[in-house]
Amino acid sequence: MPFLPYYDHIDPGQGGSSMVIPELPRPVLNRQHVFTCPVCHQSFASYEDRFQHRFEAHPYQRPLLVLGAHEVTTPRFVVTTALSPEQIKAVNAETCRLDGKTITAKTLARRLAEAKSGFFKVELAGTQGKITVSYEISIEVASDAHAFLVEQEFARLYSPGVVSVASVSAFIRAASEARTARRYVDGLAAYLYGILAKDQRGDTTLSQEQGRARLNEAGQTLSEIGRPLAAAVAGIVSFQSNAFSRNERLAAVPRLQSAMSWFESVRTSGQQLIVGREDGPITPNACVPLDSATDEILAWMEMPHDRLRGHTKQIAKRGQQDDWLPEDRIKAKVLLAAIHETEGDAGQAGKVARDFRHDPVFSRLAERLISSEKESSA
Ligand SMILES: [Zn+2]
Repeated sequence: MPFLPYYDHIDPGQGGSSMVIPELPRPVLNRQHVFTCPVCHQSFASYEDRFQHRFEAHPYQRPLLVLGAHEVTTPRFVVTTALSPEQIKAVNAETCRLDGKTITAKTLARRLAEAKSGFFKVELAGTQGKITVSYEISIEVASDAHAFLVEQEFARLYSPGVVSVASVSAFIRAASEARTARRYVDGLAAYLYGILAKDQRGDTTLSQEQGRARLNEAGQTLSEIGRPLAAAVAGIVSFQSNAFSRNERLAAVPRLQSAMSWFESVRTSGQQLIVGREDGPITPNACVPLDSATDEILAWMEMPHDRLRGHTKQIAKRGQQDDWLPEDRIKAKVLLAAIHETEGDAGQAGKVARDFRHDPVFSRLAERLISSEKESSA
């Protein structure tokens, strides 16, 4: 089974910034901390700036609990990342209650930030108590020791080199001691079951579709957990589902990061540049199992153009292959169109582009390639 290397420990001072991506424009998205407005997607340098903008620029009437990056709009919510009191805000709340007791917003923030585990009932009442919003907040922040134990057990999957349903069960059993890291284990296990189903291997009994559901579940759970492994796996799931804009926490996985940045720039600008290879200054020290399609696509994306050209036929074949999921077939087609265009063959590039014209992610690129094809033949 293929594995994707990642950096287990990231120096926050240089992670990402020291990577060289020669033929790509330097992606602006690699900045370490970007705070994006959930409504208009404008970016801010600090949590406070974003928060202030969010409620000044886009008025909101009801009481609302904000936990870190989340505006909690569901009655139940699970917190898996430690938050500071400053990241916990009660918006439009005249009265705050925690487990039935009236407290100040400041105390509410402090109490929730201090708790590493537990179940809390939060009620926020608006002006004159007209609207009350109730939440059940479950706090499940993994201790470092438990998260480390999970990662050690996960790393054991790498030594036999073959992942199967049996080895995933063994991982879950071994990691069960890590009581506070239960969601971390759930997320990683869902990922592993998901890639086995995607590849239809390792004694899986799930269909590819069921596997896709597992992968989405894994991506959602792991994107909330602040560990390099969780970020790497959540990033792989975003790549699998062609959600290329979610490429902010990928300093741990430079290969994936440069591939995501390339597809993202193709998606947003409709322009394509030659695929570039990045070089990390040090060798990654850990590995995540990968599904075979993602592995093959990432391998193409690392190749210098003249080598990639030699794979044109294979890439075209993958783009039509039934046992590849639609998202992966689209990536193969986009890459194929990129090869043709780089070769100066606007006719072939346009022909390939007709195949992904209605794809919501790459329609802009398709339109441009189709119109250049028309211009070149006119
Ligand atoms: Zn905004």
